[in-house]
Amino acid sequence: MADGLRYYRHQLQFNEAKMKFLLLLAVFGVLWWTWRKPSAPPPARPDPPVERMVACAHCGLLLPESDSIGAGERRYCCAAHRQAGDA
Ligand SMILES: [Zn+2]
Repeated sequence: MADGLRYYRHQLQFNEAKMKFLLLLAVFGVLWWTWRKPSAPPPARPDPPVERMVACAHCGLLLPESDSIGAGERRYCCAAHRQAGDA
């Protein structure tokens, strides 16, 4: 009977120690988490301006209009395709 009580107390102490350990772990975890978190939120990267995509009149490759060669509706992905013209 006394042994059982002692065992119970031992278990209680063990659980308490375990709880303290877990609590300590949690505290350290929070500290670590707050420490590694950058103090300031990263600046919001402005979205690149949406550019119209055009298809190469020769091969059909889609590319931003500024990267394309040619004028008007005839757009090409490279000089070679511009020379080659429509497929
Ligand atoms: Zn092309």
